[in-house]
Amino acid sequence: MFKPPENAVVLFNGKDLNNWRQRNGQPATWTVEDGVMTVVKGDILSEEKFRDAFIHLEFRVPDMPEATGQAKGNSGVYVQGRYEIQVLDSYGINIPGKGDCGAIYNQFAPLVNACKPALEWQSYDIIFRAARVNDEGEVIENARMTVLQNGQVIQNNVILMGPTGGAIDHNVGEPGPLLLQDHGDKVQYRNIWMVHLPLEGSDTYEPR
Ligand code: MG
Repeated sequence: MFKPPENAVVLFNGKDLNNWRQRNGQPATWTVEDGVMTVVKGDILSEEKFRDAFIHLEFRVPDMPEATGQAKGNSGVYVQGRYEIQVLDSYGINIPGKGDCGAIYNQFAPLVNACKPALEWQSYDIIFRAARVNDEGEVIENARMTVLQNGQVIQNNVILMGPTGGAIDHNVGEPGPLLLQDHGDKVQYRNIWMVHLPLEGSDTYEPR
């Protein structure tokens, strides 16, 4: 398992969901066992909110051999609660689409199919650049995202068109949480952490 760097914020400690909430603000009800959380009832949101960020998490989809399409191991990782990276059992699909695992839901299909079979642990490493908003509240730069699935680049700095369906809000200039989706399937997550990124580096050339 990929260990969090020293400056990481651990979003899931493997023991409880004390720093996660449901959409209505009530405590999260997913089950936690052996360092793993399992989807039970309702989406859950991290208390931690962020703008630009590097996020790592691991997920495992259940084995649902009878199920197909969007009914097969569906969940999702909403960055800032606004942009869903699809979680689905898309193993073996030749040309994954905009609804498949690793897609920015209904905006960008993954570049390649990097999926492992059901029941195997997989990882997402997400580099997220939040939307930039001016003093009038107008979006001057859309959010961007790079995603690695199991170490393979599946999204290469895509410019997001805006929040995906099911977003918590459209206040893209505000910090947002990590949201994990309940789509009715027993998807599991573990080892979730993030690093807050500065919005920009220094404007000096010479080192000080
Ligand atoms: Mg989903």
